[in-house]
Amino acid sequence: MGAFLAGVRFNGWTVGARLFLINGLLALALVFGGIIAWRALSAQNRAMSSLALISKGARYHQDAETRISDLRGDLNSALAGRARTDTERSDLLASMDDNSKDLRRDLLTLAKLELPPDLMDTEARVQTLADVYLSNAGAVGRLALNDSASATRELAQFDASASALNDAMDAQTSAFTTHIVKASSDAESAERDAKRWLVMAGVLINIIVGVLVVLLSRSIRGSLKSVRDVAQSLASGDLNARNVNLGPDELGDLGGAINGMADSLNEVIGRLRADADRDAFGNQLSEGLEMADTEEEAYEILGRAMVAIAPDVPTELLLADSSRAHLERATAHPTAGPAGCNVDSPFSCMAVRRGSPVLFADGEALNACTRLRGRPCGPVSAVCVPVSFMGRALGVLHSAAPAGRLPDPRQIANLTILGAQAGARIGTVRAFHSTQQKAATDSLTGLHNRRSAEERARDLVASGRPFAVVIADLDHFKKLNDSRGHEAGDKALRLFAETLRLSMRDGDMASRWGGEEFVLIMPNASAAQANEAVDRIRASLATALLTGGTAAFTSSFGIADTTMSPRFERMVKIADEALYRAKEAGRDRAVIGDARLATTGEFRRPVEHTSSVSLRKLAEG
Ligand code: GH3
Ligand code: MG
Ligand code: MG
Repeated sequence: MGAFLAGVRFNGWTVGARLFLINGLLALALVFGGIIAWRALSAQNRAMSSLALISKGARYHQDAETRISDLRGDLNSALAGRARTDTERSDLLASMDDNSKDLRRDLLTLAKLELPPDLMDTEARVQTLADVYLSNAGAVGRLALNDSASATRELAQFDASASALNDAMDAQTSAFTTHIVKASSDAESAERDAKRWLVMAGVLINIIVGVLVVLLSRSIRGSLKSVRDVAQSLASGDLNARNVNLGPDELGDLGGAINGMADSLNEVIGRLRADADRDAFGNQLSEGLEMADTEEEAYEILGRAMVAIAPDVPTELLLADSSRAHLERATAHPTAGPAGCNVDSPFSCMAVRRGSPVLFADGEALNACTRLRGRPCGPVSAVCVPVSFMGRALGVLHSAAPAGRLPDPRQIANLTILGAQAGARIGTVRAFHSTQQKAATDSLTGLHNRRSAEERARDLVASGRPFAVVIADLDHFKKLNDSRGHEAGDKALRLFAETLRLSMRDGDMASRWGGEEFVLIMPNASAAQANEAVDRIRASLATALLTGGTAAFTSSFGIADTTMSPRFERMVKIADEALYRAKEAGRDRAVIGDARLATTGEFRRPVEHTSSVSLRKLAEG
């Protein structure tokens, strides 16, 4: 029984259906118990009715016996002559008539009762004999009132009928006794049976209801317990706990809802984690790139970031050159290598054109970038992230993996961050260098400006390396300007600058000092070597003027070196004094300075030395 109960499950039953089932079975049990009780009570009722009927018959039977006996008493009184007066005789006669009538009525009533057949048989016999008896009693009684002697003679016949009636009455008494005993016994046993059946029906209903309640509550508890266990696991942080074997009932729905809640939680937490990972990666990358002052340093950090994103996915950064016309590989994944894109200009790249990352799950697909086709490594998938700075395309970050194995969403998000931050940093570095270069360059000639020359000289002085300083001043330049125009003057300045650039050694520096004056710095050169260099410059200038398309001009040079003074300001003064002497001597020549001669401050108009303040500062530094 226990095993049977344990095996009973209500899988697939809703809680409502389970309650409906128990309600239905309870109603069935009640109907069954009611039928049993009704049947038992009916049986008891029948037995009691039967007993009552027989008792009623027995009462009429007893009444009839009394009437017979009373009639006999009346007859005896008449025979004994006790009624002497007419009134007494009339009363006795009336009594006999009444008793006769009552006896007849009792017997008729008895005959109408639906008594058992054997009793009805006795009743029929009693009635027949009673008719004879009453007829005899009436005749003898009337005779006895008038003539008791004659009546006494008729008495034998009356006694015979009385005896026969008494025998029949006795037989009926015996039958009634038997029936009353049996009916009483039947009523008692029906009552006992009714009680027993009622108790049994009650017990049966209780057992059925109890078993059902146990089964039902156990099935609900079992389902609730597993749902509760999963809810507790989720509450304690195990977000992988799930309700399994869910039935199609309300508890199954509850378990499903908890599963759905856990899925949503997992998704949200996953998203938050991914966001946090992305933020952490982005912050680290931005901090790393912040420390990169040059593009090369930035490339090194970008390479390390590529490894951090995907250790085995070939990736490369293609950047446009200064003309922004050609893309070249700036850096590649340090271990997995470059992705091998052959796109040659920024606007041939789909990602650059769209201005947003582009994913290609299969490079051979109809709508894939044509540059992904025919790669030596076979079909590829790719992620292309445009790299830009302040809305201007700089290039593209390109990752390629075997077809169908596109980097996962986290890697794609990080590649997007990498592309954005690469653009921001490289753009900033380039803009900074361009600004620096502009600040250090003379816009007319493209040579270094005076500030750059002073910085270079300061570095050389600080390093203790020997060097020579040459000041060049174009001859009669005012005249050239006046006669040929300012444009021609500018052209001449540019031609002279170009001549300097081409004639000087690597490591030497030519700068426009101001106006039509230039300062040349030649590291590791003595004044004599500088003089030779100046000769080459003058020769080159002469050659350049032949094809330069500008008005002819010459230049004078003053030369100094660190043997004359270790201080740059002083060297400039010495060279300036030598230049003054070159002018004095007829121009178009170089004169090596003499520290002893350069003692008298300014040699020429102060307007040409507007940066003397800066020189002073340099000297102070
Ligand atoms: P000297 O041989 O003694 O040096 O005579 P000079 O005429 O060259 O000397 P001066 O200092 O009197 O004149 C310099 C002229 O250079 C004055 C100015 O018009 C010209 N100049 C200075 N800067 C520029 C420039 O940027 N462009 C042009 N076109 N001319 C310039
Ligand atoms: Mg001058
Ligand atoms: Mg001049």
